[in-house]
Amino acid sequence: MLNFDFYNPTQILFGKGRIADLNKVVPADAKVLVLYGGGSIKQNGVFDQVMAALGSRSVVEFTGIEPNPTYETLMGAVDLIKKENIDFLLAVGGGSVIDGTKFVAAAACFEGDDPWAILEKRGSNITKALPFGSVLTLPATGSEMNSGSVVTRKSIKAKMAFSSRHCFPQFSVLDPTTTFTLPVRQIGNGVVDAYAHVMEQYMTYPVNSPVQDRFAEGLLRTLIEEGPKALANPEDYDTRANIMWCATMALNGVISTGVPQDWATHMVGHELTALHGLDHAQTLAIVLPSMLRVRKESKRAKLLQYAERVWDLRDGDENSRIDAAIARTQEFFESVGVKTRLGDYSLNAGNIDPILSALENHRMVALGENRDVTLDVSRKVLELSL
Ligand code: NAP
Ligand code: FE
Repeated sequence: MLNFDFYNPTQILFGKGRIADLNKVVPADAKVLVLYGGGSIKQNGVFDQVMAALGSRSVVEFTGIEPNPTYETLMGAVDLIKKENIDFLLAVGGGSVIDGTKFVAAAACFEGDDPWAILEKRGSNITKALPFGSVLTLPATGSEMNSGSVVTRKSIKAKMAFSSRHCFPQFSVLDPTTTFTLPVRQIGNGVVDAYAHVMEQYMTYPVNSPVQDRFAEGLLRTLIEEGPKALANPEDYDTRANIMWCATMALNGVISTGVPQDWATHMVGHELTALHGLDHAQTLAIVLPSMLRVRKESKRAKLLQYAERVWDLRDGDENSRIDAAIARTQEFFESVGVKTRLGDYSLNAGNIDPILSALENHRMVALGENRDVTLDVSRKVLELSL
């Protein structure tokens, strides 16, 4: 096992009816900015529950944070915070709203000229951030219990990630009933994103880490079992609860302790979203299976372990077990409604060069746990995904 630091200060308030407990965790004298997206929380009653829980606190709203939140929109919230002397932020929504709130929290305290520098330095230049909490309505990203964020700058078609220990939510409320209104597309997206997060931290090379491996395999098997149930029976509370906790556990720092990490699939996926507007999970469903096929040799030992422990594949020679495990992964993504080929999204061979140029511009030229995912490797992955 590798050396590690583990730090995660986020309090989780989990279960039915827990939004009411915002009253206990939001400071009583705070001037609160409630940030949200395109209005789903107004339709499903979450907004009303939040407002009731905040009671007599002074509240200002910032609405319109879009999926794949943009710098251009978020800077509007930064201006509002300064104008209104806001001292606490509450994100209500999915990963985009929570990620956006992390950027806003850091940007409001940023001392340089332009907070876009936060993305350019991947968050290493953040020295403080406003305190914030979240109410999660879409299990997928793990943003509710981690310090990472991904922000898009529309004007230059760049989607970049940052993280900082100043950007953990103080608390997150996870009420599975808030997810009953998710469209089918977002249920599938959430399952695929959480699955890909586990794979980025598990599917590398062995370092004798049985605790982390068994945790990761347990999360993967749970997503395989529960994902289709959520699609078949959207209002089954236990299914939604299991998926919600799974997605949080997939990216809260626990399974990445002491193990190598990959993240090449996410980095290539970000360019697909920035250039073509695909949903985050759609990009992962396209890239991950091909990424595993192209890097089969360097991941051989873990792929064999994955085949046996996650997919119960024990018969046949090594190569056929590995190939079958990757095929099952791809079929699973399709089974929860997320298409896995570039062609399914009207993209073709002519779109590959611009994606590689974007990766080069963003210095994404030596990705993965061995830093051996060069632009040539990314090209092979994309060609295999056509
Ligand atoms: P999202 O972009 O937050 O939301 C997608 C859509 O779902 C929105 O239209 C939203 O509507 C709707 N929605 C959310 N909750 C709903 C509910 N309960 N009922 C009905 N509709 C609902 O999706 P996401 O997958 O959670 O977040 C994706 C973003 O997170 C991407 O930018 C991705 O790169 C990033 N990400 C971050 C991390 C991290 O660690 N921080 C990890 C992976 C990905 P409204 O706009 O109306 O709310
Ligand atoms: Fe992700």
